[in-house]
Parts: sequence; C-alpha cells; structure tokens
Amino acid sequence: MQPTDRPSIVITAGSKGFIDSRGSPATDWVISELYAAKTEKAGGLALVVGALPKSETPSARLEALGQLMDGLIVTGGAFDIPPSLYNAKPHPKSGPFDAQRTSLELALIKQALSTDKPVLAICGGMQLLNVALGGTLIQDLSLLEAPLCHEQPNPRSEPGHGVSVTHNSLLHAITQSDELEVNSTHHQVIGELGSELRVSAIASDGVIEAIESTNHPFALGVQWHPEAMEAPEQTAIFEHFIQAAQKR
Ligand code: MN
Repeated sequence: MQPTDRPSIVITAGSKGFIDSRGSPATDWVISELYAAKTEKAGGLALVVGALPKSETPSARLEALGQLMDGLIVTGGAFDIPPSLYNAKPHPKSGPFDAQRTSLELALIKQALSTDKPVLAICGGMQLLNVALGGTLIQDLSLLEAPLCHEQPNPRSEPGHGVSVTHNSLLHAITQSDELEVNSTHHQVIGELGSELRVSAIASDGVIEAIESTNHPFALGVQWHPEAMEAPEQTAIFEHFIQAAQKR
C-alpha cells in the first residue's frame, strides 16, 4: 500500500483531569496505544482526537474532521455513558461520566453513519453506537440474573469468555467463526437494541457482545477489546475495517 493510500482513521480519546507536579490543574487526553498500533498495522493512518475543553464541540471542527475521516474507531475507557442519553436515571454503580467525550463521540458516530463511513465501535464505543441509534443500556452487571464474569481478572491479551457469532452477519464474514474467545472488561451491557441494528454475537448468559448496522456497509460494535488480542480472528476485524475505509 502506498503511504498516500492509507485511510485516515479517527480514533477517539478520553480526558483525564489531574494536578500536575507544580500543583496546577491539568487535563491530558488518554487512550491505549493499542488502537493506533492495530490501525496502522492493518494499513490505516491513526489520528487520535479528543474533546476540547469547552462544553460544546464546535461544528466547524466536526465538519473538518468529517472531511478528513475515512473511518471512525469509537473507543472505550473507564467511564460510562450518561444515562440521560437513553432516558434513564443513573444507577448507583453507574459512572464516572465524561460528557464532553461522549458528546464528541456521538457527533462523530452520527456523521460517519450519515456519510456511510466505516465505524468500528469498541467496548464503551459499542454501547454508545447502540445509544446513538435509540437503544438503551443496563447500567451494571448486578442487575442481571446470573451473568458470566465480564470483568475478567486476567490480562486483556487473554480471553475472559466465549461468544457465539450470528450466521450471515458481517462479524461472521470477517472472522469466519461460529464461536470466538474474547476478553471482557465491562460492567454495563446493552439493554434494548437500537433501530437498524442487529445482534452479531452473544454470550452464553444472553449478554449482547457484538452489534452491527442492518443498512450501513460497515458499522460494527464489539463489547470486547480486539486491539488487545493477537488471535487472527481479532486481527481480521481491524483488517476488514481498514479495507472498508480504503474502498471509500
Ligand atoms: Mn463480556
């Protein structure tokens, strides 16, 4: 692939406030390097974008990002989506929230969907893809009857549980697998599915582990972290996503 052929992949970052070594309040953008590493290994150019320190995301910035973006990776992190976005009251175990990040990610998701640009939504990103399309979340695993362990104690490079992949789904076409071993580091799960979405993988306890758009060429959400796993099926997710971004 020629360097100029590399699709530009916007990867969303979180913000972390802290007190610096001089005692001043400061904010860093935070994101695992693995998202960018797997994007570039698959042939994309990783462009990390975080929220600006204003409460509103300027529309001119979004428009410019939209023109630049060939594909979007919505990432996850140690935060939850504000329940007001799906008309729910916060559960005591919900949070912390990062409203500015979520607002930026929502705007980017809507832009990518409306312009048919590929979207890979990972962990909290998958939950937001569902919410963006009118779906809801269950705010803590304690609300489920007999959940599997979805907050695995072992490293993310190792599986936490298995999932069954839906036949004739995009995820099945990508992974060529009926079953996948996936890592699991989430305490919230999808409740009601959003519109124009379908389930593409499910765990044995009924937890929805992957979703995809029924009318967009490539809008895939996975509840696990494929960027942290080395199995060929997980690498294939990034390769197919970059190929879809390349075709545009
Ligand atoms: Mn899980």
